[in-house]
Amino acid sequence: VVVRSGLAVDGWVPVDHTNLTKRFSGVYAVGDVAGTPVAKAGVFAEAAAGVVADDIAARLRGGVLERRYEGAGSCYIEFGGGMVGKVEANFLGGPAPTAQLVGPSLELAAEKEEFAAVRRERWFGP
Ligand SMILES: Cc1cc2nc3c(=O)[nH]c(=O)nc-3n(C[C@H](O)[C@H](O)[C@H](O)COP(=O)(O)OP(=O)(O)OC[C@H]3O[C@@H](n4cnc5c(N)ncnc54)[C@H](O)[C@@H]3O)c2cc1C
Repeated sequence: VVVRSGLAVDGWVPVDHTNLTKRFSGVYAVGDVAGTPVAKAGVFAEAAAGVVADDIAARLRGGVLERRYEGAGSCYIEFGGGMVGKVEANFLGGPAPTAQLVGPSLELAAEKEEFAAVRRERWFGP
C-alpha cells in the first residue's frame, strides 16, 4: 500500500532525517517504512514518533522543532542468570553512528522490567 501510494522510493519513504517530514507539508514517515539510516526496530520507531509529535505541536503553535531526531535507542540483551545488558546506539546525533555495550548487570535487568511495564501500561492501561 505504501509503494502504491507513490510515497516510496526504492522501497522506503524518503524523509528529512531531522524531523521525519516528507516533501509534502504535514506528511511524516516513521518506523520501518521510513528511509532513515537507522536500524529497523521498535525503539527507533517510538523515538521518531515522539519527534513527529513535537514537530506537529511546534507547527500548531507557529514555532519550529527545537530538537532534531537523533536515531538513538537501546536494545536489551539477556545474558542468563538474571543478568541483562544493553546496546546503546546513536545513528544520527554525531558525525558517525555510535554503539556501545553497557553491562550486563542486575540493575539493567530491573531497568528492562521497568521499560516493559511502562510500555504495557501506556498501550493497554493499568
Ligand atoms: C521477530 C521480531 C522481533 C523484533 N524484536 C524487536 C525488539 O526486541 N526491539 C525492537 O525495538 N524492535 C524489534 N523488532 C522490530 C519492530 O517490531 C519493528 O521495527 C516495529 O514494529 C516497526 O514499527 P512500525 O509501526 O513501523 O511497523 P509495524 O509494527 O510493522 O506496523 C505496521 C502496521 O501496518 C499494518 N498494515 C500493513 N499493511 C496494511 C494495509 N494495507 N492497511 C492497513 N494496515 C496495514 C500492519 O498490520 C501493522 O500493524 C522485531 C521485529 C521482529 C519481526
